[in-house]
Amino acid sequence: MVFDSIGDAGHEQVSYFTDPETGLRAIVAIHDTTLGPSLGGTRILDYDSEDAALEDVLRLSEAMTYKAAAADLPLGGGKAVVLGDPEEVTAEPVLEAYGRAVDRLGGRYITSVDINSSAAEMDVVARETDHVVGTTDGLQNPSAVTAHGVFCGIRACVDHVYGEDDLEGLEVVVQGLGKVGRSLAEELLEAGAAVTVSDVDREALEAFATEHGAGTVEPDAVYERSCDVFAPCAVGGILNDDTIPQLECDIVSGAANNVLAERRHAEALRERGILYAPDYVINAGGLVTVAKDHFGGTYEEAYAEAEAIEARLRGMIERADEEGTTVLDAAETYAEERIAGADGESRSMPQP
Ligand code: NAD
Repeated sequence: MVFDSIGDAGHEQVSYFTDPETGLRAIVAIHDTTLGPSLGGTRILDYDSEDAALEDVLRLSEAMTYKAAAADLPLGGGKAVVLGDPEEVTAEPVLEAYGRAVDRLGGRYITSVDINSSAAEMDVVARETDHVVGTTDGLQNPSAVTAHGVFCGIRACVDHVYGEDDLEGLEVVVQGLGKVGRSLAEELLEAGAAVTVSDVDREALEAFATEHGAGTVEPDAVYERSCDVFAPCAVGGILNDDTIPQLECDIVSGAANNVLAERRHAEALRERGILYAPDYVINAGGLVTVAKDHFGGTYEEAYAEAEAIEARLRGMIERADEEGTTVLDAAETYAEERIAGADGESRSMPQP
């Protein structure tokens, strides 16, 4: 079963690590290292089963290959899962054992933060390996870089749809006022956009709206709210059979990961005449920051590099138009061509 799962998506290597003394149980999946060492976070979760953990790490590592390739980074795709109750497996001895496991991969996999693993956990991992980023002495605040990249991506979409990239007066709805959404909303307001914000945290929502003079919309009314750009910056899976018919916007372009419930929803948006900027293309600023951290460079350089998202996305949108496909298709082709150009082989993303 394991060989079949690995073979299906073309993973290079999947390693299982145990440490009887500490109880560590981890899986590291290296999907593709054609463009560089594989990089991806460590997800710490009490999975229902080992199969569920394997499925997750295979899916996430493959997605990292596409994300890095579509961001023009010299990185491949990898991911790790540490299985168990997060309270227990974030104990220092377990994380140190995990650090030794990452180290044994010799740099083919570089780890970082993800669900239930933050800079504090990476500091412990870093006692045992150099192949780690996202520690407390690394570049901080990747979310502001992510937001800036999303802002630049929105400009590319606006230019394509309205023929000019001036955001002055444009109506933008930002869903989620977290680390990314807040920063994005501020940048949009500075650019003169008319911003409406939404969050399940009522207090944070009202405080932001009062401070910045932004409009607000209830979380369950956000999809039917008429606007030019809808920027989802909260949770995944929100664009689905139920919400897509409600949308009253021309562009969907935000930071949220896995925003489409299923891949076919990219086509559903296209059929409705809504331009959808693929999540992993537009939210790559965080990965750009992590890469800068790994290869050496400053936060300011990462911030400036995130601006390249605008031209790259523009190219993908134009290609999708020419070929009559979704921008998601064009982004995948872009990533696959980069990888094929690097090793002379062609790859294709398996369709679910
Ligand atoms: P966050 O946890 O800081 O903020 C999420 C916000 O969304 C919170 O304020 C939460 O209250 C709100 N929220 C949750 N459900 C909501 C709903 N149904 N309606 C409205 N608001 C809701 O997260 P973040 O770091 O800002 O990331 C936002 C999204 O962007 C996530 O999907 C994340 O995976 C993705 N992303 C983040 C980064 C980064 O650099 N932080 C990079 C790439 C992708």
